[in-house]
Order: sequence, then C-alpha cells, then structure tokens
Amino acid sequence: MSNVEAEPAALKCGAVAGDAGAGQGAAVEVLSAREVPLGGPRALLVRRTLPQRARTLIGAWCFADHYGPVDASGTGMDVPPHPHTGLQTVSWLFSGEIEHRDSLGTHALVRPGEMNLMTGGHGIAHSEVSTARTTVLHGVQLWVALPEEHRHTARDFQHHVPATVRRDGAEIKVFLGSLVGSTSPVRTFTPLLGAEIVLGPGATLTLPVDPAFEHGLLVDSGDVRLSGTALRPTDLGYLPRGTDTLTVANDSGTPARTVLLGGPPFEEEIVMWWNFIGRSHEDIVRAREDWQADSGRFGTVEGYPGGRLPAPALPNAVITPRRNPRHP
Ligand code: MN
Repeated sequence: MSNVEAEPAALKCGAVAGDAGAGQGAAVEVLSAREVPLGGPRALLVRRTLPQRARTLIGAWCFADHYGPVDASGTGMDVPPHPHTGLQTVSWLFSGEIEHRDSLGTHALVRPGEMNLMTGGHGIAHSEVSTARTTVLHGVQLWVALPEEHRHTARDFQHHVPATVRRDGAEIKVFLGSLVGSTSPVRTFTPLLGAEIVLGPGATLTLPVDPAFEHGLLVDSGDVRLSGTALRPTDLGYLPRGTDTLTVANDSGTPARTVLLGGPPFEEEIVMWWNFIGRSHEDIVRAREDWQADSGRFGTVEGYPGGRLPAPALPNAVITPRRNPRHP
C-alpha cells in the first residue's frame, strides 16, 4: 500500500536514549487511530495508529494502517505503481484478496492468513489491486524501518503461511519472529514480532514475551484488555520493554481479533516522508527525484493497467525532528 496522504507530514523519528522501560506492571498506553483517505475519488479510508504524535515506532515497526471490513465489490483497493525505500512492507489480510505486482517481477496474491513481506531496500516499486472476486476487504498494512547497515539492501519479496497455534482459547498465527513456540522462518533485519491473535469469547491468554521488546497490540474486533487495560477496536495498546508476560483477554461474547507487534526499541533516528524512509531530508529529496525522473532506481512494474503514482510535492518547511516520548 502507498501512503497517499495529500500532504504527508515529514517525520523524523527515533527511540529516546535512556528510555529505561518501565518494567513489570507498566501502564499500557492507549494509542487511538486517525482516519486517513488513501487517495482517489473513492478513497479507501484507513485507520492509522503509527506513526502518531504520541509514538512513532514500536521496535522497528514504523507504520500501521488498519482498514475494513469494507465493501470492495466495486473499486476496493487500487494503488498504482509507487516506490519504497529504506523499509519493508508487511501485508496481512483478514478478508479479501489483493493482487501484488512489483519491480522484481513478482506477481502474487495476498490472501488472509498469508504474509507477504516486501523489502524496499535501496528501491522497489509495486502496485496493489483488490481482485474482482473480493467482496469484503479487511486487513492491515505494516511497515518496518530498516537499520542503517541494511537500508540500501537489494529489493526482495517473501511469502509465508504460518501455522495456527491453539492456546488458552486463542488461535495464534506468528508471521514474524517467535511466540508460543512458533517461529517464522522469514528473515528480518532487526528482531521483530508479528502475530495475529484471535481470542474466543471470554478467553484470557497469557503470553511469555522477550523483556527486551516493546509491544503493541492492535485491536480489530472485540472488547479486549491488554495486561488489564481496556482497548477498543482500532486502538493500539503499547507496553514498553521490561515486561516478560503479556495477558490478552476478550471480554466479549464473540471472537476478538488482534495483531501483536514487537521488537527492541529502534535506536536510530529516521526521516519518513510519503513512501520513503531515510536518515536526512536530502535522502528524501533524492528518492523523490529518482522516482519522478524514473531513474531506474526503483525498477519497473509490469502488468499494471495504468500509470505510475506521482510523488506529492515536498513540504517547504524545515522538518522538525520527532521522537518517541520518554517513559517514566
Ligand atoms: Mn506500498
């Protein structure tokens, strides 16, 4: 997916040095979503929880869009070829089907329960279109910031279908990292956790987690409590590092669907604008120029019936660095 906000804010993000983590019993911070139209006359509305003023990253997770369930029998999703650099995209669907084409020559279908991880590295381009047989579109689009030593890595695409682990009335699919004895074989450039957790009615799940990780629980449906704190659908509950056990409870009489994200705090400052992540304003300007000039950096997407997505105009203001807030 493309970040097609008409005037995307330039963000300088980074973990705060000396954020000690609040340890066991830390309060869950509730991050609310804001609605963002994904462009076009019949824009798909997405709910964005990362980045936001209160928090820019959870581990290397730097972007979280949650969309649907939405009637996609008409237009659905149609994002023309657009570039990425310095990041990986993770597509995870609950319902529907998206046709992915990229400048590696990949032509893949994104389906529920199947993760597609695309590495932008130095540069990639891709298009995403919901298929004609899709009636309901529902899922998440997540981005991972690449660390300095790998941010210019070669473009790549990986597909993984995780097994379902059943525990304490929950069904868990680990698409990145390790949880409840299930480990994803997909390579990441920093330690990461990504898992879909569906809790049965009234279920309470106790999860041993890495205390070096901070975590975020995105709620899709249900009355969910994360380590005692109530979350509403579309909320992202955040817990700092220093916690070795999470509890996730479903107070509703119907199943609750959540997505758990985690990783050690990302220590580098990053600059994020449109679909690019860099380390400086100049990195962003260069990436935008390379895309606009079709320089070859991002390659060519074959098979999309239409033109490329032009980059929006750069902001004319100086980018103000933004950091994660310090935790007590
Ligand atoms: Mn994209």
